Amino acid sequence: MNGEVNPSGWADLHVHTTQSDGLLLPDQVVAQAQVAGLRAIALTDHDEVGAIDAALIAGNKLGVEVLTGVELSVSHKHFDVHILGYLFDRHEPRLIACIKEFQNERRLRVDRILAKLAELGRPLSKARVMAKAGEGSVGRPHIADAMVEAGLAENYYDAFNCFLGDGRPAHEQKKKLSAIDAIKLVHGAGGLAALAHPGQDISDEIVLEMIHAGIDAIETVHPKHGAARRRHYTAMALAHGLLTTGGSDFHGGRKIDEKIGDFRVEYEAVEKMKNYLAKLRSSWV
Ligand code: AMP
Ligand code: ZN
Ligand code: FE
Ligand code: FE
Repeated sequence: MNGEVNPSGWADLHVHTTQSDGLLLPDQVVAQAQVAGLRAIALTDHDEVGAIDAALIAGNKLGVEVLTGVELSVSHKHFDVHILGYLFDRHEPRLIACIKEFQNERRLRVDRILAKLAELGRPLSKARVMAKAGEGSVGRPHIADAMVEAGLAENYYDAFNCFLGDGRPAHEQKKKLSAIDAIKLVHGAGGLAALAHPGQDISDEIVLEMIHAGIDAIETVHPKHGAARRRHYTAMALAHGLLTTGGSDFHGGRKIDEKIGDFRVEYEAVEKMKNYLAKLRSSWV
């Protein structure tokens, strides 16, 4: 995708930081975005908005527009669906309360996973996991990193394949919102909701159900989508009057060879998102 010319500039709308399971601090992410020549990025940490303040400061200094975002895990008919929220008020009280609850739930889930690991003969201290997570939302990637560090797994992927991955012996579900509640949460904070990477693991039937649940956009550009998937979801979005978004799902180099901006959309997509929200807001007054 790189090398294309586009006068409006480029935006990567799916980026994680150390505040969830990314490996780079918010200001480091912004610095890489500048080097990659991006005009804008949206931070979409899992169940977290704590990186946005620091990224805004770095963005102001480096001339990179930082957009508010979040990636929420949603449970729908036993499927794990991800909903991206964009351009909402990150100080909205209900959203903040919900995020606090997610943080607690995630910490309790670490206890359950560690109990299972101990039973499996792989005792790991919570302190080691929390040291990997820092102050943001703790997740399975931090447990995987801690396991590798403690010599309990050969590498990150081994930790998932043998213990932490879905259906593996130390897997534990986390409490999730329903799709409708996640969409309401984002809308209630004045933002728009996009269905994340539908091509990763959900059927078109589920995509249609998410459309009926009230999503405003589909993430068409994503590393898990080839050109055919991208066209398919773009057509679906168009047919239902939805916006399109996209990004690299950057985790700071956690996945081999990933770079911020490798998957990106024209800045025009951001303008469309802003115009869409401006129209919605003016229809409320
Ligand atoms: P959590 O939010 O704690 O359930 O962790 C989810 C994250 O773990 C995902 O965003 C992925 O980055 C990572 N993950 C989940 N399953 C796997 C897997 N089988 N192999 C590698 N990473 C995984
Ligand atoms: Zn992640
Ligand atoms: Fe995701
Ligand atoms: Fe993501």
